[in-house]
Amino acid sequence: MIYDVIIIGSGPSGLTAGIYSTRLGLHPLIIAGQTWGGQLMLTTDVENYPGYRKITGPELMQKMRDQAEGLGVEIVDADCTRLETKERPFHVAVGDKIFEGKTVIVATGADTRWLDVPNEGKLRGRGVSSCAPCDAFFFRGKPVAVVGGGDSAMEETQVIAKVSPDVVLIHRRDEFRAQPAMVAKVSALPQVKLLYNTRVVDVLGDTVLTGLLLETGTLSPKQQVGSLPELVAKFGGEQKSGTQWILPRSGVFVAIGLIPNTDRFPGLTLDAHGNIVRYEEKDGQGMLSYFTKTNIPGVFTAGDVHDGRYKQAITAAAFGCMAALDVARWLSETDTHT
Ligand code: NAP
Repeated sequence: MIYDVIIIGSGPSGLTAGIYSTRLGLHPLIIAGQTWGGQLMLTTDVENYPGYRKITGPELMQKMRDQAEGLGVEIVDADCTRLETKERPFHVAVGDKIFEGKTVIVATGADTRWLDVPNEGKLRGRGVSSCAPCDAFFFRGKPVAVVGGGDSAMEETQVIAKVSPDVVLIHRRDEFRAQPAMVAKVSALPQVKLLYNTRVVDVLGDTVLTGLLLETGTLSPKQQVGSLPELVAKFGGEQKSGTQWILPRSGVFVAIGLIPNTDRFPGLTLDAHGNIVRYEEKDGQGMLSYFTKTNIPGVFTAGDVHDGRYKQAITAAAFGCMAALDVARWLSETDTHT
């Protein structure tokens, strides 16, 4: 069996590509990954996906999956281990099993960016987490921190503040990157304190997290303190040397962005941020004819794995739609060679 298109990834982009491919009369296969659904499976409430006033991330993904399967898309719940693109049909390996596809859409999304400090690996799952909705339960009544300044950090903070009476949100600058409305919501929470111009030097603890080693640069006027010792006292910490100090914490949620999942696709051209490069094409009249092509003819891309800018569920879904339309066009132009 040779599939018209093998879609690698099952977030909003992959599932939408599957839905559109079947509606375009193609025969798609989705390699969903061992943990399917992407980043939205780790989110709680989604309030900005059109059509749903409020829905949880996992519910939204289940609806997309049900729709894809209802339309006849085949889904394999396993990880793609290799993509061979030297010849067509392309070979997509899942362990020892090889699936053949005339085209491929890489829609593998992006994963947590970790702090990359010495003790982080040892304490992951022992107080260091990247998912408040998954792990908040373990920190009921305990002091925690969230690291980051974007929308994810705001979301994580809101979630963990439901169970922790003492949350410190640590950002390396003194301006948040997140949407002002989200910053306003978090700032209004009485159990949340904001710590600016501070980076995490290490996470501390032998078997479980006990604290964070922090370094505070220039004091932000927003902290409303006159010196580092005053700041340390305000947050209940202990000064070490120079600008470094220890903040006692039982948990820390890392929300500093994402890394595109491209390690299984060595032949694909990546940009400086690790995102797959898209190559747009225009026809003779200057009209856009392809939007989601990669450097390999027949391999297309969709979603956060190529999009380092918008990174929304709705834009990922839209890219999935575009990739499916591009695949259908490309097959109609080239299928005689298959
Ligand atoms: P992001 O927007 O890239 O923000 C990452 C934050 O982490 C930035 O504030 C950055 O600081 C900080 N950071 C990066 N590396 C760091 C490091 N090594 N140490 C300390 N801090 C570091 O990532 P995101 O918040 O995960 O959001 C990703 C995308 O998803 C965004 O487009 C966002 O809008 C979207 N999103 C939307 C929603 C929603 O609408 N409900 C929810 C979550 C995410 P700087 O600011 O100094 O660069």
